Amino acid sequence: MALYSYPRWQSHQNIIPIDLPQATHLARCPNAPFVIPTDGWIGVVYGDSILGTFNHSGLDIFSPTGNKVTPVYAVYDGYVTRLSYWVSAVIIRHPRDPLNPNRQIWTYYAHMASLDGQSYIIDQIPQGTFELPVKQGTLLGYQGDYNGESWREITTHLHFSIVQDDDTGHFMNEMDRANTIDPSPYFGMRLNTACADRPPTCRPDITCELGIRN
Ligand SMILES: [Zn+2]
Repeated sequence: MALYSYPRWQSHQNIIPIDLPQATHLARCPNAPFVIPTDGWIGVVYGDSILGTFNHSGLDIFSPTGNKVTPVYAVYDGYVTRLSYWVSAVIIRHPRDPLNPNRQIWTYYAHMASLDGQSYIIDQIPQGTFELPVKQGTLLGYQGDYNGESWREITTHLHFSIVQDDDTGHFMNEMDRANTIDPSPYFGMRLNTACADRPPTCRPDITCELGIRN
């Protein structure tokens, strides 16, 4: 995966904010910093054992309504980037992790395109977008079933993950779960395969006693 460099101390003065579509009412558990990014069934959780590899780096949320219908929203304020060759994905930089303000984190959103590569990301976030400011609840695109070059067919869903920064302003390779962060405390739900509620539900005690942790 290609990386890009963006020192966090660099000025944003050349970036002109534009009005992006914004949702007003989004689900969020009490005291959780992130809103749920899209509607649907959270069918595959963090490190999910049902995939057999324990390497699932985030959440898969499945819309019941098919492609290009179910909106996908930013979970938190940040700066969105879409690399020049990204068909279905965007990534948002969050300079201050709301649960650990000393670090920068990223949130990644994928499969927002049709099987044959027609993008469902909104027009205001074209390929090559770099550090466009977004708010929590900004519309990013719509769920799809694009899966790149993979042989594996998927059904319409959002793949969402929280990606670690390498401490030099790069996001790490989110395909490896070791480079990602358990989303449970950010959503206020048990979303780690070691102790996930199925279906997930808001609860104050989200930490697993055993199993996969960051
Ligand atoms: Zn996934």
